[in-house]
Amino acid sequence: MKIDVDAERLAREIDALAAITDAEPPAVTRVVFTEQDLRARARLKERCSDAGLTSRVDAVGNTFFRWEGTRSDLPPVATGSHIDAIPNAGKFDGVVGVLGGLEAIRGLQKSGFVPERSIDLIQFTAEEPTRFGVGCIGSRLLSGVLGPEADEQLRGSDGETLRIARTKAGFAGDLASVRLAPGYYAGFVELHIEQGPILEREATAIGIVTNIVGPASFFITVEGQGGHAGGVLMPDRHDALCAAAELIVKIEALAKGSGATDTVATVGICEVYPGAINSIPNRVKLGVDLRDSDGKRRDHVLEEIRAAVAIARGCQDEGLESRRIVARAYHDSSFMAQIAPMAMIFIPCRGGVSHRPDEYASIEHIVGGVKVLARTLAELSLAH
Ligand SMILES: [Zn+2]
Repeated sequence: MKIDVDAERLAREIDALAAITDAEPPAVTRVVFTEQDLRARARLKERCSDAGLTSRVDAVGNTFFRWEGTRSDLPPVATGSHIDAIPNAGKFDGVVGVLGGLEAIRGLQKSGFVPERSIDLIQFTAEEPTRFGVGCIGSRLLSGVLGPEADEQLRGSDGETLRIARTKAGFAGDLASVRLAPGYYAGFVELHIEQGPILEREATAIGIVTNIVGPASFFITVEGQGGHAGGVLMPDRHDALCAAAELIVKIEALAKGSGATDTVATVGICEVYPGAINSIPNRVKLGVDLRDSDGKRRDHVLEEIRAAVAIARGCQDEGLESRRIVARAYHDSSFMAQIAPMAMIFIPCRGGVSHRPDEYASIEHIVGGVKVLARTLAELSLAH
């Protein structure tokens, strides 16, 4: 599958959103529930409906733009970030994850991909703590880390409670209704600028951040290129079974390397397609079982395996270098991790600078991140 990202449109949309600001451009000031925030939301909604996405807004203003999948019986997957900005910030923090998420969906649509699970693009309310002194208000409420008492307890710098401020901005309803049940999403992936210097320093295009908790058994599908066993020469091969074999050995090594003897990982299923002796395997389905007496340690190994596979595979398909990285700032993803398997895709930003008008990420790096996000969402949206 080729992911076609419209880099010009994406750059144009990032600039257009940056022009909606209370500060002198290029500085961006867009505090939650202000007129500029509402204008930016309206613009985003238009762009999403252009792409055929439906929308739902909750009581605190978190907005869910949905690309309907064919399997409405299954939990959807989601991506997203924030568009609010602290005073005199830049134009990429958060925005890359929202407009990039939209562009990832558009790229998948253009490629003819049909999702089984629905794919949600979430625009979270108030990731920045500017107004209420607490960050990630939207995702905290979604995950239940923050309860409905926040309505009266949180007070803005102007003295208004969250309840009054959100009602004035047009977001009414019971704050308790914002919470989503654990398992509501099958997975959540956020694309974000690194806000640190590591990727740029190492000239690495993609950083993979994971904190995946969840089931102890799962399937991995390895795709390759088939062909006649006699006709395709060795240098030209992409044998899916050979790649799967490396992965099986890697899974064994990761389990052995957990530091505890009761971490056990087993690849008990290996289905080879087309499964003929004279045909190069083009697809292999592996069934992995992972157990540990310690749930945390098990999840850690699981995280390592999944990180080794999902986003890394997207990077490989796009020919991009990747490395694992630790997120130092907190993000909406930190809270989404409470209710869904979570991963983040980081792209480099110049000098690691963020929350300043000179914050900068190149369109090449953004597009690379969008393509990896698109592939990751495509993979997660399949029912297997
Ligand atoms: Zn951010």
